[in-house]
Amino acid sequence: MSKKVVVIGEAREGSLRNVTFEAIAAGKIISDGGEVIGVLCGSGDLQESGKEMVYYGADRVVTVSHDELQTYTADGYSQAVSAVIEDEDPEGIVMGHTSIGKELTPKLASKLETGLISDATEVVNEGGNIVFTRPIYSGKAFEKKEITDGLVFATIRPNNIPPLNRDDSLSGEVTAKEVEVKGIRTIIKELIRKSSEGVDLSEAKVIVAGGRGVKSSEGFEPLEELADVLGGTVGASRGACDAGYCDYSLQIGQTGKVVTPDLYIACGISGAIQHLAGMSNSKVIVAINKDPEANIFNVADYGIVGDLFDVVPKLIEELKELNV
Ligand code: FAD
Repeated sequence: MSKKVVVIGEAREGSLRNVTFEAIAAGKIISDGGEVIGVLCGSGDLQESGKEMVYYGADRVVTVSHDELQTYTADGYSQAVSAVIEDEDPEGIVMGHTSIGKELTPKLASKLETGLISDATEVVNEGGNIVFTRPIYSGKAFEKKEITDGLVFATIRPNNIPPLNRDDSLSGEVTAKEVEVKGIRTIIKELIRKSSEGVDLSEAKVIVAGGRGVKSSEGFEPLEELADVLGGTVGASRGACDAGYCDYSLQIGQTGKVVTPDLYIACGISGAIQHLAGMSNSKVIVAINKDPEANIFNVADYGIVGDLFDVVPKLIEELKELNV
């Protein structure tokens, strides 16, 4: 049965995050031929970003612009999104399973007195039934879930559901809605960007991650170069963060970021269960470790037993020669 689905978009410093387009693709599957309505909150003119959501498949977009929405707060965004949901009365809602999505969607779900399927890695339409796949037990197993009655509300893990191709011949209305945003209890005084450069870890296609085996912050330099050559970004194990070799914003794992890149290169990482929880669903895993018994090799598609300070420079050299 076709449904009306609201997709909550997300922008960072004026640019829509890729997961917004993935959420639209998921919204299309859930809608089963129905209508997909994008919602975008922020400040200033959101018309162009709204149009971008249309080019990626939204049938129409509602923007809510307000000075109080310039920076995300759960209070502000939940008021703005709730107002649109109230108008639209959708049968489905989707958002990215990002830091914002993880905070905003449970708040909305409780307001709407509904359930929420979080962190879906796959959404399929099985004969009209929408089936979600999501990881459980820190990614060691997957469960399939269906909402048979009521609102279909879900968050999707970035990098798992392919977005539709951008088509700027698509047209759809982008309308601005006025919402009175008030009573925000969080005051953002300053935004301090820890990793200002490079791609966002949770959306990166290639991650070169370093562990305690890199031995120092300088030890990350060859990893950064390898990431550069591959057009990716650098991540880390908690071992490396705890040792002070890099910032905690790079931590991947159970208490860090969950990532699903196309290629994950683990350098000098032993493969503790808490680290695997954040990366074992990467599409291709390459491990470089001098200990042939290291647990990381149990999840790796390709393993290189060796000293990372020998192996990584050789990889960079070869890749540069191949001109990738
Ligand atoms: P180590 O286990 O010390 O491994 C270093 C590896 O480097 C070894 O395998 C060694 O053989 C190899 N090595 C050394 N030198 C070289 C070299 N020159 N060349 C190649 N290989 C070399 N960890 C996370 O990563 N993320 C989390 O989110 C996380 N959350 C946690 C939550 C809790 C509640 C707890 C208790 C722990 C958590 N941990 C997490 C920590 C986790 O248990 C491990 O301690 C940590 O992942 C180890 O990091 P590591 O692999 O870098 O270090």
